[in-house]
Amino acid sequence: MVVAIDGPAGAGKSSVAARCAAELGFVYLNSGAIYRAVTWKALQDGLQDGDAEQIAAAARSLDLQYRNGELMIDGQRRDDELHGAAVDQHVARHSAIEAVRAMVNRRLHQIAERQDVVVEGRDITTVVFPRADVKIYLDASVETRARRRWQQQEGDLSLQQISERIIARDEADRRKTSGSLQQAADAIYLDTSDLTIAEVCDRVIHTIQNTSEYQELQG
Ligand code: C5P
Repeated sequence: MVVAIDGPAGAGKSSVAARCAAELGFVYLNSGAIYRAVTWKALQDGLQDGDAEQIAAAARSLDLQYRNGELMIDGQRRDDELHGAAVDQHVARHSAIEAVRAMVNRRLHQIAERQDVVVEGRDITTVVFPRADVKIYLDASVETRARRRWQQQEGDLSLQQISERIIARDEADRRKTSGSLQQAADAIYLDTSDLTIAEVCDRVIHTIQNTSEYQELQG
């Protein structure tokens, strides 16, 4: 079974998807983390945003594995580096490279072939799994999303700076020629601005449990 969740940065996708997957016993897949891993590698290799072919080659060379819901890059967890300001600033441009998108989508499909998954990102409901069993679009106001990221950050960016970066990333994510952030016509829209993670999860899980696919899985 595939549960697909899309939405902009800070809408709560990762927390909700991880928690729902754990409650259902599904595998949690964070496509943004894979794009971040590609950018991390490109920056490590000193590549520039315009070096599309080299970035795609770096992406293909990465050994990416999911172990207990954690993304391992060449055998190591790199969560802090993946969420640093440098990766944040370049990831939207690197993830616009077609060959990078093809690599990420192929990996997501390979994993979902063998197990039940909750996958989150920007184009999961529209491009990667357009026939997903459940489609959710999570949203929240820019103010709420910036505040969440500001509270989560390890660095010392101001709320205003984080807000500007979120607006710039939203803009870049919506303008991509392929894999742009869009709400699928058949996705359930949830504004999370005034909801807790637990409340959003309850709604998502309720939706999943009401599908015939889930009921068949339960036998
Ligand atoms: O979800 P997260 O903010 O970690 O994603 C990082 C970036 O990866 C996004 O801003 C977007 O540019 C890119 N991305 C994408 N397609 C996805 C998931 C993420 O282009 N399915």
